[in-house]
Amino acid sequence: MQSKEILEQLKDEISEIEYEHYLKQLQYIEEMSSSSHAVFSAPNILIANWVRTKYMQRIAHLFELRNGNTTTIEIILATQKKSPPKQKNVKRTSILDFTCTFENFVVGGSNRMAHNAASNVAKHQAKFNPLLIYGGTGLGKTHLLNAIGNYVSHNKSVNYVTSEQFLNDFVHHLRNKTMDRFKEKYRSNDYLLIDDIQFFASKGKDMLQEEFFHTFEELHNNRKQIVMTSDKHPKYIDKLDERLKSRFLSGLVCEILQPELETKIRIIKNICQRDRIFLTNDVIEFIATNINNNIREIGGNILQLNVAANIIGQDITLEFARQQLKEHIVEESTNITLERIIDTVALDFNIKPSEISSKSKRKKIVLSRRIVIYLARLLTPNSMPSIAQGLGMKDHSSVSKAYKAIETEIKTNKDFKLKLEELQSKIRLKN
Ligand code: ADP
Ligand code: MG
Repeated sequence: MQSKEILEQLKDEISEIEYEHYLKQLQYIEEMSSSSHAVFSAPNILIANWVRTKYMQRIAHLFELRNGNTTTIEIILATQKKSPPKQKNVKRTSILDFTCTFENFVVGGSNRMAHNAASNVAKHQAKFNPLLIYGGTGLGKTHLLNAIGNYVSHNKSVNYVTSEQFLNDFVHHLRNKTMDRFKEKYRSNDYLLIDDIQFFASKGKDMLQEEFFHTFEELHNNRKQIVMTSDKHPKYIDKLDERLKSRFLSGLVCEILQPELETKIRIIKNICQRDRIFLTNDVIEFIATNINNNIREIGGNILQLNVAANIIGQDITLEFARQQLKEHIVEESTNITLERIIDTVALDFNIKPSEISSKSKRKKIVLSRRIVIYLARLLTPNSMPSIAQGLGMKDHSSVSKAYKAIETEIKTNKDFKLKLEELQSKIRLKN
């Protein structure tokens, strides 16, 4: 059998212990596989995770070599194998990533609120409805969405989809004139989890937005939980229907921020533990400080480091890590400009750069303006008058007041001090 041969082929590439412990434990599930999709079951989550992170790409490649077409690989838990639903009414219309749970989500200042909100709606349906989690790439949005799904899926019906899948499905059913089936699929679950809703908004997607609006209304009226993620605050999603915008904002909106260094270190330790990779503290700190904040990329880098170390047969020393990851190190920037500071602070506060140099008295904007002033003094050679000019302020006495206000705040507020250090390092790093 082809799948068996493929696993055996891998036997020659890895150590015997690894083969015996991991690959040999996999079982090919014919009835769930097709010519372009191979499904294996693993006896436990550890083995499933190990295979997923270490061998999945290689297995897919070997399939491709044999069949000549791209093959996706899926590793499921043996318990998920055709197990009949425990409750009659429970429908599972979607595939959840079972490796993303609340237990293995590292909570820190940057994601605490989003995590709390997610775990609350998992425990109490429609407690906050809708819940919308937004933030940058690789910061854990999809993880939390799946964690909710996994938590509730034993007794509730869950539908997890990306907005692209929703779109494709919509087009498909529209073409086939089976919209009643589409409606049934999306309006009948206790939990509708929609990932990356920013894709709903673009030119020519009016019908889709209209359909989603009605889906939303019906679910909401029936106290079904809707959870969405987005890469930005709905307010800043261009071309998003105003009605949808106001619906999205009517529940709870939480941001996942860029992780603080300390949280990043704990996430890296968590990844190492999950993938059974040993890294010394200095290597962990090196990765946390020098690679960007995208956890997905950090995970990939750690894996790459481990594979390289295994192949060469050497320990992962700081020097080795530096050498191996040199392409991924975000270098220090030498020419820091006021614009760069404004852009970084605006992004962090989720406001438009132009708002910082506006006359707005909104608390958030005033604070971000003061921070920009402080950082500009610290990181650029600009004088007070030139900073005032750059920010469209009339006189530089207000610049100096702002600087002092931040200075005082830093002395008394430890969290604030940390926040500013973090902003500084973002500004100092290129990209
Ligand atoms: P996003 O959807 O925000 O782009 P993901 O949820 O896909 O990001 O996260 C990227 C990767 O990082 C996933 O493998 C996820 O499990 C992991 N990850 C992100 N945040 C955390 C965290 N706080 N704790 C543990 N793993 C995390
Ligand atoms: Mg995602």
